[in-house]
Amino acid sequence: MSLLRPQHRINDELIASGIEDASKRTLMRIILIATGITLSGFAVLQFLSGNHLFALFELCASVLLVLGGWRIVYTRHLTPWVYLYVLPTACFLVYIIVMPQASATAFVWIYMIPLLSYLLLGRARGFLVAVPFMVVSTLLYFQQHRYDLDAEGLIDVGNAILCGLLTIAFVHIYETLRAQAYRQLERLAQTDALTGVDSRGCFQQALERSIQEAERSNLAVVLVILDVDHFKQVNDQWGHVAGDMALKHLCSSILKRLRATDSMGRLGGEEFGLLLRNTDLKGAKPLVEDLRKQLASSPLLYGKQQIQLSATFGVAEWPSDGRSVDELYRCADRRLYYGKQQGRNQLVTADEAGVKADLVGGASA
Ligand code: GH3
Ligand code: MG
Ligand code: MG
Repeated sequence: MSLLRPQHRINDELIASGIEDASKRTLMRIILIATGITLSGFAVLQFLSGNHLFALFELCASVLLVLGGWRIVYTRHLTPWVYLYVLPTACFLVYIIVMPQASATAFVWIYMIPLLSYLLLGRARGFLVAVPFMVVSTLLYFQQHRYDLDAEGLIDVGNAILCGLLTIAFVHIYETLRAQAYRQLERLAQTDALTGVDSRGCFQQALERSIQEAERSNLAVVLVILDVDHFKQVNDQWGHVAGDMALKHLCSSILKRLRATDSMGRLGGEEFGLLLRNTDLKGAKPLVEDLRKQLASSPLLYGKQQIQLSATFGVAEWPSDGRSVDELYRCADRRLYYGKQQGRNQLVTADEAGVKADLVGGASA
C-alpha cells in the first residue's frame, strides 16, 4: 500500500501531457530571441545604409521579440502567440523580396517560413501556413526578377524552386515522424506495459480532472484502491510469469465490469486504483463488492492448475471522505490497510469507528 508521492506525480504528469508543450515553449523562446537578435543586427546595417526609419522599426521589433521570448514560457495560451509571431514574420519575409533596393540574396529568408511554421504549428497547420506563403513569394520573386530561359537562367530558377520544395518535403516528413513518435511515447507513458490499464501518472491526472469536474457539477466521485492478497506467495509458489498472468487476469476481469466512464490504473506492484465517476459510495458499494466476489471466485487457469486470487478494497468518496486527491488517497489507503488487518479479501467503505457495519468480506466478516 503506498500513497502517490508529490515528486513522482509531477514527473508522471510531465511525461503524460507536458513534454510536447514544454519543449514547444522552449523552442518558441529560442526562436523569438534568435529572431530579435538577428533583427537588431539588421537594424544596425539599415541604420548604416541610411534607412533610419526602417532601422528604428527593426530595433523596436527586435526589443519586442526578445521580451516576448523571455515571457513566452509562462503564457497560458501558446497557440495565439505562435500565430502572432509566425504570420507577421512570414509577411515580413515576403515583403523583403519586393522591398525597394532589396538585396539579391534576400529571398533565402523565405526558406525559413516552412521551418518556422512546421516547428511551431505542427504538420497540418504548418503546411497550411507554409505553402500559400511559399507560392506567393515565388510568384512575387518572378515578377521582380526576370530570368532568361537559357540553361544558366533555368539553373538559377531550379536552385530556388527545388530548394524550397525539398525544404517543405523534408520538414513535412520530419514533423510527421516526430508527431508519431510523440504519440507513441505518450501512449507508453499513459499505459502500464504489463496490464494495459492506465499508468499511475495518467490515473492520477484522471482523478484530479474528475475532482475538478465534480466541483462544478456537484456529483460525487469514488476512489477505490485494491491490493492483491498474499501476492508474494503467488510469485513464490507459481513463479513470476504466473504472477504477471495473475495481474493481467485481475485487470481484464475488472475492466469488463467497469463502465466506459470509469478508469483503472496501476498504482504500483500489485496495487490498483479504480475511479468511479458520477456515483457515490452507496451506488459504488454493490459494484465493488461484486468485483471482490468475482475475483475470489474466478481463479486464474495456469496450465492445468488453478491459482486462487483475492484482493482487499479500500473505498473513499469525494467530497465526504476528502476534498483533495491526497486526502482521498489517504482515506482509501487507510481503509485498505484496515481490511488487510481484518483478514484480507475485504471491502472497507468506512473508518474503524463505523467500520463494523461497513466491512464486507470473505475471510473474516
Ligand atoms: P498483502 O496481502 O499484505 O498485500 O501481501 P502481499 O504478499 O501481496 O504483499 P507484498 O507487498 O509483501 O508483496 C507484493 C509482491 O508483489 C512482491 C512483488 O514481488 C510482487 N510484484 C510486484 N509487482 C509485480 C509484477 O509486476 N509482477 C509480479 N509477478 N510480481 C510483482
Ligand atoms: Mg502491495
Ligand atoms: Mg498485496
